[in-house]
Amino acid sequence: MYKYRKFGDRYVLSIDNHEEIVSAIKAFCEEKHITIGTVSGIGAVSEATLRFLDPAIKNYVDGVFTEQMEISNLIGNISTKDGELYLHIHATFGRRDYTCIGGHLMSAVLNGACELVVEDFGKGTVGRKFDPETGLNLYDFSVTEA
Ligand code: FE
Repeated sequence: MYKYRKFGDRYVLSIDNHEEIVSAIKAFCEEKHITIGTVSGIGAVSEATLRFLDPAIKNYVDGVFTEQMEISNLIGNISTKDGELYLHIHATFGRRDYTCIGGHLMSAVLNGACELVVEDFGKGTVGRKFDPETGLNLYDFSVTEA
């Protein structure tokens, strides 16, 4: 599913071609017991599902894009919610015509390469709690243990 090498608190991570990226990042964090940290990287995909939160209706709108695109930027954070790993990842994708689309990354199928850096902040975590006002799972700093 992926290959990696560790450098201090960081991992250089290469996801295998044709894998689903979000699932692979999740599997990697679970394997390494990472409960607080960040992920960033670049790559290329053949399809992606992006999510947009419409604050007016406090509801998510998902868009599915089935085309070859560059991951011009992927950035996210690693935390927990109710004791479970919680990934919050945003991504920008470059299209063939050099325009970009972006949003909250739900899933994407790698087609080419996906080169990431995952940073593990160490023991503990920051939890999350649903916030009715925004409709978001916001950081909850009262949670310290994974
Ligand atoms: Fe988001």
